[in-house]
This record gives sequence, C-alpha cells and structure tokens, in this order.
Amino acid sequence: MRSFIRLSPLFLILVLLMIGAKPPIEKPEPKDVKIHGKIVCLAEEMHTHYKVELFGNHEHLRGVKTKDGEYYTLLRTSLAEALFVDERLHEKDLIINGRVFPKTQLLEVTRFSSIKDGVVHELYYYCDTCYIRAVAPGNCDCCQAPVVLIERPLNIDSIIPSP
Ligand SMILES: [Zn+2]
Ligand SMILES: [Zn+2]
Repeated sequence: MRSFIRLSPLFLILVLLMIGAKPPIEKPEPKDVKIHGKIVCLAEEMHTHYKVELFGNHEHLRGVKTKDGEYYTLLRTSLAEALFVDERLHEKDLIINGRVFPKTQLLEVTRFSSIKDGVVHELYYYCDTCYIRAVAPGNCDCCQAPVVLIERPLNIDSIIPSP
C-alpha cells in the first residue's frame, strides 16, 4: 500500500503526459480567401497547358485563374450563378471573396467585385422600375422585366493598395 502511494504521483504525471501527447483530432476548416483573377474554362486551360482532350461542344468547367496562375474550381451556388451565365463578367478583372475547402481547390463564392481603372467596382443586377437588386441576371422578381448589370465604383477611395 505504502509503495503504491509513493508511486502514484509519478503515475499521474505519466498519465497526464500521455493525454497531452495525444494528437488533437481536428476537423480541418475551410479557408477564407480573397482571390484576384479572371473567370476561365478550366477544361480549356488544361487543354492549352497539358493537352487534355477537349470536345468542341464541351460543357465549360468554370473556374478562376489568379494573377499568379493558380486555378480554383467554382461551386455553382446562387451567389456564383452570375459568374457562370453572364459572359460579360468573363472579360473583367475580378476580386472574389469566398471559402476554399480543405484539401481541394473548390471555391464557394460569397461576394465578387471588379477592378476597373484601378478602382474596385460593385457588381450587381438591378431593376430600375422596382429599385430591386439581384445577384444574377434574369427577370425582376417583381415586374418580370430583365434586370440590368450595374458596375459602380465602390467609393472614390477604393484604389487598390499595392501588395
Ligand atoms: Zn470550355
Ligand atoms: Zn422590376
């Protein structure tokens, strides 16, 4: 009994060390990103760079190509819909805010804007009859007239700071 009492603090320390040494089981979190790039067809990009087979009438695989040549695949959500369907946006320099999921290059868009003449511009769709904003092209929820694309300077001070 005596020897057990004498040994027990040592045993306790050993147990604590073992608990402490256990690697924490953590679920990796999505990463918040702000990407500067253009909308491209990833299939066409991979065809150009790596000779991936490409059918002329293929369905475009939409993604973003950053200034550094990094690629992200776009998840088709309601907030990203405009980037899929509005070809005018494919010509623009975009800033896309969103989340990238662990061990993937899958991008969920939460917000996007454009850069025009070095100034950040808000992009949205608008019905000037009902004063209703929309996130994607289509007909106005209210009057059913088509909404128009608006590109408006975010504010006069929104010159992009140099990195
Ligand atoms: Zn394509
Ligand atoms: Zn309307």
